[in-house]
Parts: sequence; C-alpha cells; structure tokens
Amino acid sequence: MSESAARLIDAADHPTSMLEAAARIVHEDLKPLTLKIDLEGLYPQAVMHQLGAAGAFRPHLPAARADGAMDMPSSIKAMSLVSQECLSTGFSMWCQDTCGWYLQNAVNSSVRENWVGRLAEGHVLGGTGMSNTMKAFAGIEELRLRGKRVDGGYVVNGSLPWVSNLGAGHVFGTLFDVEGEPGRSVMALVDCDTQGFQLRLSAHFTALEGTRTFACIFQEAFIPDAMIIDDDGAAFLRRSRAGIVLLQLGMGLGVVQSCIDICRDVEPMLGHVNCYLEDRPDELQLELDDTEEASLALAEDAFEESDDYFREVLQLRLTSGELALRAAQSAMLHTGAKGYLQSAPAQRKLREAYFVAIVTPAIKHLRKELAEMDQAS
Ligand SMILES: Cc1cc2nc3c(=O)[nH]c(=O)nc-3n(C[C@H](O)[C@H](O)[C@H](O)COP(=O)(O)OP(=O)(O)OC[C@H]3O[C@@H](n4cnc5c(N)ncnc54)[C@H](O)[C@@H]3O)c2cc1C
Repeated sequence: MSESAARLIDAADHPTSMLEAAARIVHEDLKPLTLKIDLEGLYPQAVMHQLGAAGAFRPHLPAARADGAMDMPSSIKAMSLVSQECLSTGFSMWCQDTCGWYLQNAVNSSVRENWVGRLAEGHVLGGTGMSNTMKAFAGIEELRLRGKRVDGGYVVNGSLPWVSNLGAGHVFGTLFDVEGEPGRSVMALVDCDTQGFQLRLSAHFTALEGTRTFACIFQEAFIPDAMIIDDDGAAFLRRSRAGIVLLQLGMGLGVVQSCIDICRDVEPMLGHVNCYLEDRPDELQLELDDTEEASLALAEDAFEESDDYFREVLQLRLTSGELALRAAQSAMLHTGAKGYLQSAPAQRKLREAYFVAIVTPAIKHLRKELAEMDQAS
C-alpha cells in the first residue's frame, strides 16, 4: 500500500483527524473562493478533490473503509463544516456522498467494487439524479426516464432538468422505469461520457451556480448491466432513502450555524437594538444543538428501513429546513443594511437557506409525506 493510500485510510477511520483536515481545507482553500463561487459560478473542483483526499466523503461508506464500519454522523459533520462556509460546495459534497451511498447499497457487488473507492476518495466526482424518483415515489410527478431491456443492459430515453456536481468524467446515480413491465424500475450508475447521453447547460442559478448543474438528456443511451446498481428500484429506494435524506442534514446544520455566527458578530455594535428581534442567536443555538444531537443519533442507524424510523428522518429534515429559513431571516435582520451588500454573507445565507428548503425533498414534499404517514397510522 502506498504511503498516500495509508494516509487516506487513516483519515477516514479517525473522524477527528478527518474533521480537522476538512476544517483546514475550508479555511485555507475554500474561504478565499466563496465569493467567486457565489457571484461568478466557480465550481470548486480542486477543493472537492482535497476534501476527498482528506477522507471527508467516506465515513458513511463501509465498502470504502479499511475497518468496514459505518459512521454517517462524521459525514454529516464534515458537510456541515463545509456548508457553514459555502452551501454550493456543501451541496456538491452531498451529491458526492449520496452517489457513494447508492454504491454502498448496490446489490450488484461489481458496480460497488469498481466505483465506491474512487468516489469515496474523490478521484471521480459524482452526483444524484433522484429528485424525480423521490417525487415520483411520493406521488408528486411521473418518472421521467424509461429503459428498454436489450442484450447486456438497457437503452434509456428521457431527461432530468437539474442534476449537479456533473461534468465530463463524472458519474451519477438515477432510476428509470422499464418498458413493458409496469411497476418495475431499475437503479443505475450513469457515466456522463456514455454514448447517447448529453449534459446540457440550460439554466443559471442564484446561490448554486457553482455546483455544475446540468439538464441530463438520454437519447437511446445504453446502460450496461455492469452499471446496474439494483434491478429492483423500489427495494433499492427503501434501503437507501433514510441515508439520502439524513446526509442532507449536514447542509441545514451548517447554514444555521453560520447564520447564528453572523448574528453574534454584530452583537457588540448592534446588540442594544437587536435585542428587540425574534430568533436571537442564543435561542437559535439551543434549537440547533437539539437538532444536531437528534440528527447525529438518527444517522447512527442509517441502514434502518422501517417506516417509523423514516418518519423521524423526514420530520428532522423538515425541522432543519424550517430552522434554516428562520436563521437566515434572523441573520438579515440582525445585520441590517450591511447584510444587503453584494459581498455580505447574510444575503448569501438567505439564498442558500431557501435552497435547503426547496431541494428535494422540499418542505412541501416533506409535509405531504408526513401527513400521509400520519393518516395511514
Ligand atoms: C440549483 C439546483 C440544483 C439541483 N440539483 C439537483 C440534483 O443534483 N439532483 C436532482 O435530482 N435534482 C436537483 N435539483 C432539483 C431539486 O431537487 C428540486 O426537485 C427542484 O428544485 C424542484 O423541486 P420542487 O419539489 O420544488 O418542484 P416544483 O418546483 O414544485 O415542481 C416543478 C416541477 O416542474 C418540473 N420543471 C420545472 N422547471 C423545469 C424545467 N426548466 N425543465 C423541465 N422540468 C421542469 C420539474 O420536474 C419539477 O418537478 C436541483 C435544483 C436546483 C435549483
């Protein structure tokens, strides 16, 4: 084993050193880029590779760890550290972590063995085209991708409007239904360089422009059996759904902490009048600490498949989204006019917090699923 490979394993298996390394990367390498990412749409590719090398994408992936353990709380903590500085990068990290999680949960061991290490180490960057899937399984919209069984794989047609952390040489996980087999779907890893597949830059975004978000167009794209993660898509989603949503908590926790810090920073100058505002930093901190404690505790059991457990995960995801909106509003009100400067963190946090609230599962989606679960019980 090379010295650098040994260091990677060391970092992944020792969460404290991984988190220290991630904090250093955030401070020294990401922070100087944050404004460019926000205002110019820079994609922080070098930072993503550095985070991977530090072991930040692997704690929740037993298949990529020397000790075979699962430590999703550390993955969430690392994403929270990054999201405190820049949610674009935090979201790209969620895309990467979630793609690795799909491989961790693959029934096809060869796709897992071929790809999980490369994603965990950040050598290959990856994403997740599963918003449509999650909404389709929640009865919100139809599946947009359809595959036809052919010799040695599937030919897939359709499109996904927005998938992030993509580019030439990247991969992503997605799910398609199967022509002529109502109710059956297949989960696959898609190589962005596949023939018949195209990334189309069709939109520009506020706050998230630095996430390399593309429309994904499948026109007779051939997905070989070697890239099939599970030929029972519904079973796959049931197995992996909790982890997908739990990992997102890292984004929410990070954004909220940074908003609290912004409120605290102006306390010496404006505390005498800010004390008349709601959602003061100490109050928000108490709520954040409770949410964080609950998140990290739930994340210990991310392989759990029961509906009761998933209900708790959805509720916590809703709480973190709602808290992010309140914290971002509070940061704006606490900083006042200075928060309105184009370079001010407060107005960026506001735009970032709304993304936490609208990315699938969005607040409205979460409330729908929770209401239906309550009716069924
Ligand atoms: C910056 C950014 C990055 C994203 N990255 C990802 C990602 O990596 N993976 C992923 O799966 N999802 C991604 N999404 C989608 C996201 O998770 C949500 O699904 C999306 O924001 C809409 O969710 P909603 O529930 O609010 O749907 P609504 O906004 O209520 O519903 C709108 C529906 O209309 C359709 N729609 C809207 N605009 C268009 C369009 N221009 N072309 C085609 N269809 C359209 C969509 O299917 C969507 O479901 C991203 C969105 C944004 C804004």
